[in-house]
Amino acid sequence: MFRVSREIDFCYGHRLLNYQGKCRHLHGHNGKLVVTLEAPSLNDRGMVLDFGDIKNVLARWIDKNLDHRMILSCDDPAVPVLKELGEPLFLMDSNPTAENIAKLIFDFASQQGFPVVEVRFWDSPRCCATYGPG
Ligand SMILES: [Zn+2]
Repeated sequence: MFRVSREIDFCYGHRLLNYQGKCRHLHGHNGKLVVTLEAPSLNDRGMVLDFGDIKNVLARWIDKNLDHRMILSCDDPAVPVLKELGEPLFLMDSNPTAENIAKLIFDFASQQGFPVVEVRFWDSPRCCATYGPG
């Protein structure tokens, strides 16, 4: 089995609902993720997938939709206020935890047809959440 991984960085803001720690208030993170793709054989160029394709599709989507945005639950009462102020938002059906952001990115990569097996997402240098089907 062959595996390739690519690292992608982005900055985002969020806050968590139903949570008592520091992340209950609006604040920002320097996020980092590593997406891993797997294939039993290589394509005719000798690759699982061109690193450039991962950049062009996944990194571009993250840059456009998540980078320097507030990632919030659609139930968050701050949403109407921030919308009114014209702040850039990305709304999720779930609480915007590191776990759910890892799953969000995994699901997008999977929908693009990438043979993704894992997304590891760091919301800070020492804290990592991983999502994968296994
Ligand atoms: Zn946080």
